[in-house]
Amino acid sequence: MHLKSLTLRGFKSFASSTTLRLEPGITCVVGPNGSGKSNVVDALAWVMGEQGAKSLRGGKMEDVIFAGTAGRPALGRAEVVLTIDNADGALPIEYSEVTISRTMFRNGGSEYAINGQSCRLLDVQELLSDSGIGREMHVIVGQGQLDAVLSATPEDRRGFVEEAAGVLKHRKRKEKALRKLEAMQANLTRVQDLTAELR
Ligand code: ATP
Repeated sequence: MHLKSLTLRGFKSFASSTTLRLEPGITCVVGPNGSGKSNVVDALAWVMGEQGAKSLRGGKMEDVIFAGTAGRPALGRAEVVLTIDNADGALPIEYSEVTISRTMFRNGGSEYAINGQSCRLLDVQELLSDSGIGREMHVIVGQGQLDAVLSATPEDRRGFVEEAAGVLKHRKRKEKALRKLEAMQANLTRVQDLTAELR
């Protein structure tokens, strides 16, 4: 599996539709300061479901939409499309190429699609969570984040490893199941009390 291409439309400084084709292996993006290199990385995190405006280096979520320049008016929507080569079947979906897209309008929330089919954020997260590309962003180490990774507590570091290994999804499901079990136990105790009272 590898990231094949990334298309940005109205995302941050990329007002016009811009497609980056990515080959297997290491990709370097070079350019002058402020030319939008980090915006490309932000777009990658955003299309994979990033929910924190701060993680995207903005104050609020709408800050990802092209805000306009002296010569070009602001846009009303941002869209990012990520194409993943899934020839090795690493993603649990019956397609050798998978397209994930996210669109956001100034006046509303985000819309997601997998291979052109509208879906929920949860579907995108579930699709990616077993692949090591997690929503927690620890696979994207931005400027200044390296220190945070190195000085993470052992628990946080274990979280990184667990998500990369695909364990996190099952841990969350287990926690949910345990919560349900607890609620069931409480109900059962109540039924037993009522039964005892009726005897
Ligand atoms: P450096 O090498 O200094 O880290 P960079 O190439 O990583 O720079 P970015 O941080 O990706 O640059 O891009 C910053 C530019 O993106 C700034 O010029 C900023 O005005 C522009 N920008 C960010 N958000 C928006 C937006 N919503 N609309 C228009 N332009 C934006």
